[in-house]
Amino acid sequence: MEEHVRAVFPDALRSDRFCDAIDAAARAAGFEPDATLLVTGSCRDELCFPFGDRLQETWGSAFHVGSLGGLLFLGRTGLAAAHAHAPLGHRRRRYLLIALTHVGIGADGTVGRVARSHQQAESSACGALVALQQEIVSGSELPDLDPDDLEQGLLRRRLAFLWSRGPGLSVLEVTMAARDAIRQDVLRLHPALDPDGRSDVLLTTGVLVHAGDGDWVGAHETTRIHPDGRSDDVVLGR
Ligand SMILES: [Zn+2]
Repeated sequence: MEEHVRAVFPDALRSDRFCDAIDAAARAAGFEPDATLLVTGSCRDELCFPFGDRLQETWGSAFHVGSLGGLLFLGRTGLAAAHAHAPLGHRRRRYLLIALTHVGIGADGTVGRVARSHQQAESSACGALVALQQEIVSGSELPDLDPDDLEQGLLRRRLAFLWSRGPGLSVLEVTMAARDAIRQDVLRLHPALDPDGRSDVLLTTGVLVHAGDGDWVGAHETTRIHPDGRSDDVVLGR
């Protein structure tokens, strides 16, 4: 499976290795588990939870910000709640914010398919993003927002620019668009986490990849955002 994963995500790290690298980067930046709020964003799919559990083993219970596809629909008010909960250690609030979309890679390398342990046939992952891709490829119009299908409706609206791509749109393109949207939305909404300019954020965005031999994290980007607004890129080791 590794070659299928690396063919799509050359920077991929196995999820345990990725979590070790995040732990090391956070500690090197002065983040301590008892003075840091873990903020996680992922899709609602149960496949995403072991990764979050691994982070919580080190950093404690997480404030969760993700919706279908891992996108952030909780807005300023939701993030302001995280601010109200964050410990104030050494006069700073520290957030370890890890927000990933996800995708499966099937046994034959197909992007968007995954073998779930309790099912015989492969199924879609991310189901919400694959449904969006199929809707666009089939030529459907962008529908009105349905109050009984809010998250998928908001997902369509956030990624509405994909409609212009038409029938050639791939699952990987939708996945990378979701990854980019999550990153843009976190950076735009970040002031809600830091209204008093005293917060340190270590932010990672990327794609949680479910492969037959376990989870990986690919297309990842880690950034330290300092209280004064400066930001540094953080390179995670392989
Ligand atoms: Zn999903």
